[in-house]
Amino acid sequence: TLKNVGFIGLGNMGARMASNLLSAGFRLVVHDRNVAAVDEMKAKGALEGRDPEEVASQSDVVITMLPSSPNVEDVYLGPSGILRSTHGYSNVRPVLLIDASTIDPMTTKKVAAAVQRSKLADESKYLDSRWHHPLLLDTPVSGGIVGAEKATLTFMVGGETVALDAARPFLSAMGKSIVHCGSTGSGQVAKLCNNLALAIEMAAVAEALALGQKLGVDLRVLSGIFNTSSARCWSSDTYNPVPGVLENIPASRGYGGGFATRLMVKDISLALAAGKEAGAVIPLGAKVLELYTRMIDGGASSKDFSAIYEHIYGGAGV
Ligand code: NAD
Repeated sequence: TLKNVGFIGLGNMGARMASNLLSAGFRLVVHDRNVAAVDEMKAKGALEGRDPEEVASQSDVVITMLPSSPNVEDVYLGPSGILRSTHGYSNVRPVLLIDASTIDPMTTKKVAAAVQRSKLADESKYLDSRWHHPLLLDTPVSGGIVGAEKATLTFMVGGETVALDAARPFLSAMGKSIVHCGSTGSGQVAKLCNNLALAIEMAAVAEALALGQKLGVDLRVLSGIFNTSSARCWSSDTYNPVPGVLENIPASRGYGGGFATRLMVKDISLALAAGKEAGAVIPLGAKVLELYTRMIDGGASSKDFSAIYEHIYGGAGV
């Protein structure tokens, strides 16, 4: 059975997900280029790998949770990467690689192809008749940092069923719903579509609440109306952008420690690029890309994207 887990990328999401794997009793080897993030996980009982290659050499399964496509390429295909060579023909120990980052589906396919060209270092240990080489799953998530913390994430999975079956114990320790979307890259497609809708919804809720405030309505009352009416959505009832409406979310702590606006801009850009390739019309996506980019220009790059409420609409909270 697969029981030694590697985890690379201990940021806002990854640190919380890795903590849940530790709580579930898995042996965990971690790596992040941010030393403080590694130290925090070591204090909770994780072991350290100096680089992705060292993590892989000690793990049956490696999970990655990185910002964007170049980081994923680097961690898998770079000189000290999981596959140890840019050609991906090396012998590796992990039988299963799980990338939970949100990235370009084309990069997922490229990395998956390299993973499939690699060989298991100890074939006798892992291979059954269905499994002839290491496999990669794309498993981007939704649910935000609250979902990561409470292990209630949704995983959108692309890749082979045999790999998903093997991944279930690990995914179940970090989330509550696992949806197989199809072949390699289709988890990423599902995620990009979800985040396109989220980016637009958050802007819509922020805009409408800012209007309500200007017109003199209490925003706790107005948010409550949304939440029992037709404007209800995750951005109103779980991740409300107005400081003071909900507790324990970024809006209530100066928009820190959530989903960085620069990452949302990355996701909208990926959706627009994919749409262009597919000939899809995305007018609202283009508009919100402009709005979130303006926030970055205004210095909000690392703030949670719900800060669109104060940055674009000038809201002051409740
Ligand atoms: P983050 O920026 O907080 O964390 C990323 C971590 O990866 C950092 O600790 C960074 O040091 C590390 N890292 C980057 N490159 C590395 C490398 N080459 N080697 C080792 N470590 C490296 O990002 P996050 O908010 O945790 O998001 C991670 C992914 O999950 C992103 O793709 C994001 O789009 C997606 N996501 C985030 C949220 C959210 O609410 N934050 C929700 C759903 C999905």
